[in-house]
Amino acid sequence: MTRDEILRTFDRMRVWQRGDQRAVHKPLLVLFALARVGAGDTATIDWNEAEPRLKSLLDEFGPDGSGNSRHHPFWHLQTDGLWRLEGPPDILSRPPSATPTLGELRSNHVRGGFPPALRADLLRDPQLVATIAQRIVDAHFPESIRPDVLAAVGLPTHLTEATSTPEQIRRRDPAFREKVLLAYQYRCSVCGHNLRLGHQPIGLEAAHIKWFQANGPDVVPNGIALCSLHHKVFDLGAFTILPRSYQMVFSQHLNGSDESAEKILAYHGASLILPQSSDYMPQPEFLDWHRKQVFKSPERSLR
Ligand SMILES: [Zn+2]
Repeated sequence: MTRDEILRTFDRMRVWQRGDQRAVHKPLLVLFALARVGAGDTATIDWNEAEPRLKSLLDEFGPDGSGNSRHHPFWHLQTDGLWRLEGPPDILSRPPSATPTLGELRSNHVRGGFPPALRADLLRDPQLVATIAQRIVDAHFPESIRPDVLAAVGLPTHLTEATSTPEQIRRRDPAFREKVLLAYQYRCSVCGHNLRLGHQPIGLEAAHIKWFQANGPDVVPNGIALCSLHHKVFDLGAFTILPRSYQMVFSQHLNGSDESAEKILAYHGASLILPQSSDYMPQPEFLDWHRKQVFKSPERSLR
């Protein structure tokens, strides 16, 4: 395959989707496999080795409960022409919809990996590996957590310049950031951070509530102004915002023993610092999406 054909094959990867649900199974498996090839590893991967890694990646970066179907991409990626399995014929000959169980994959030591010709192409071209990984991470995760995803799979955290093809790019509204920051009067809606150098805000960002990668629109009611720290914490699902009271609720999974954890958790139950006009208020449908698709439940109680 040529370089362009390879890129197109990855771009065409079918991602399971039902309505607005986030499905990151295949992207995370492909990133994990790319990291291995990028490190020069020529072998296929035993399911028993892949399983704990996929589970922890899905727990960290997938919607709640997605770790339960961690074996699905290992099987279904075959139909995208990107994956080849090795194992007993009675398992491999099954129709695509007959996903083997976790137990079958484990006890038979089923192995998976990129098809040999593709793997050889990738091993020869580390830059191509980086480009594919960048396109996948751009398509599925917001900017604030891309380095975390890449680091977790074992890829360098800064790969390449944006490399998406023009037809892949849904146009972003260049004024989104400015409109959101103005709506919130240039301060973090969690902690009020408003540090500036001259007139230039420092470490202040316009966050999408419903991710741009999940077709969240570039409109102010889908945005909140957040400092870099609270932006990352929000995109990782450590807290969410209740639709009517605009109270922040934090996840039981967020913990830490030092002052930084206490500082963040001090906002649990507090109201968001609201925008200057009711026209800009975060819209309930976007907050609901964030709660279902990003927030790591269960939430801490709101005594
Ligand atoms: Zn903040």
